[in-house]
Amino acid sequence: MNTLKNISFELCFLCIVLFSFISCEKDNENITQPTDNNNNLKITSSFGGTLYIDGKYVNKTLPTDIKLTRGTYIVSIGVEGNEAGYYRKEVTIENEAELQQITFTKEDKVAPKIWKVLWVSYTKAKTVDGCTTSVSKNYVDIAYNTFLEKLKEIEDNSFQAISWEIVTKNFYEETVTIFNEAAPENDPAYGMNWDKSLSAIRKEINIDDFDLVSFYWPANSEDTTQCSGYKTNFGARAAPAPNGNKIIGIMEFPFINNEFGIQHPLAFVHEWMHTVEASYPKKGFKLPVDQGACCTAHSGNDFGYATNFKDFYPDVIKGKVLSVDRKEYLGIGPEALWIYSTNDIEISLFTSKSIPHKSSPSFSFTRNCGFLK
Ligand SMILES: [Zn+2]
Repeated sequence: MNTLKNISFELCFLCIVLFSFISCEKDNENITQPTDNNNNLKITSSFGGTLYIDGKYVNKTLPTDIKLTRGTYIVSIGVEGNEAGYYRKEVTIENEAELQQITFTKEDKVAPKIWKVLWVSYTKAKTVDGCTTSVSKNYVDIAYNTFLEKLKEIEDNSFQAISWEIVTKNFYEETVTIFNEAAPENDPAYGMNWDKSLSAIRKEINIDDFDLVSFYWPANSEDTTQCSGYKTNFGARAAPAPNGNKIIGIMEFPFINNEFGIQHPLAFVHEWMHTVEASYPKKGFKLPVDQGACCTAHSGNDFGYATNFKDFYPDVIKGKVLSVDRKEYLGIGPEALWIYSTNDIEISLFTSKSIPHKSSPSFSFTRNCGFLK
C-alpha cells in the first residue's frame, strides 16, 4: 500500500466532493467596465460577440467601444447562436485621438484549430497479481458517447475555435495489464503503463502529431467483480506526457460500475484540464490557480464558483474567470486554444520534473483524481 499515493488520491477525492456541494456566490456577473469618453475603437457586428483583445477577455459584448494605446492588436470575438464561431482581426491604432470603427463579418470567422485525439479502449484487464475484470462492448460504447459529448462541450465553450478529429482503437480481444496495490512499496505504479500501451498502438497508428490520448479499461466487471486496490470510486488520472519530441495529453478512465454505469461523466473535462493546465502559462496565458490547490482543475472554489464542472471549467476555457485580487480575468481563452493545441507547446518548455518519467508508468506531474460514485 503506497501511503503517499493514497493521500493524493484522498485529497483529490475530497476536493471534488467539496467542489460539488459547497455553494458559493459567483460574483463576476456584476462587473461592469467604466464608461470612457476617450474610447477610440468602436467594434460592431450583426451577430453580437464576446470581446477579446490579444486573447484576453475584457468583459464587453458587441456593439461596444474601448480605448487602446498606439500599437497593433488581435481583436477577436466569440459568438454563440446561429453565427457561432471564433472571429478575429488585426487592428492597428496609429493615432490614439482618432476614433476608428471595425465591423466583424462572416469573413472574419476562422477555421477551427484541429485537435487530434485517440480514443483507446480495452474490454479486458488483468492486474499484475493476476486478477481479471471485463465488460461488454456496450459499456465501451456508452462511455465513448459520453466522451464525445464532453469534447463537444469543450468545443462549444471555445466558441468553435477548436474542433476534435478523433481516431478510435478498441481492443475487444486483447487484455491490458494494470498495476495494482500489490505493486512493490517503492513502485508508485497505478493504473495502466502508458508507455507500453502507446508503443503497441504506434505500430498501427502514427500518433506523432496527436494532442490527446484517452484510455478506458474495466476497473470492475459489469457484475461488480473488482480487483484488490480498485474500489468502485477509483477515479481517473491524467498528465501532459512526452510524445517523441512533442507533448501529448494522456487521460486514463477506468470503467466503474457506479450509478452512471461507465465512470463519472464529469471526469472527462476534468482530466482534459489536467492535460493542458500546465501548458498555457508557458505561453503567457494566465490561468486561475488557488495557491493551496495543485492546479487549475481543482481551483474553482477559490474563485467563488459553486462547482468546477458546470461553472468553472466553461469560464476557464472562455478565459473569463475573475481574479478579484489581481483585478483581471484569467483562463485559457479561445485565442490560446486556436493558436496552440497541446502538440504545439514545445517540450523544451517543460522541466523533467513537470513531465512524466519516460520509463515509469507513474509520473511526478500525473494527477490521480477520485470521483463520486
Ligand atoms: Zn483532478
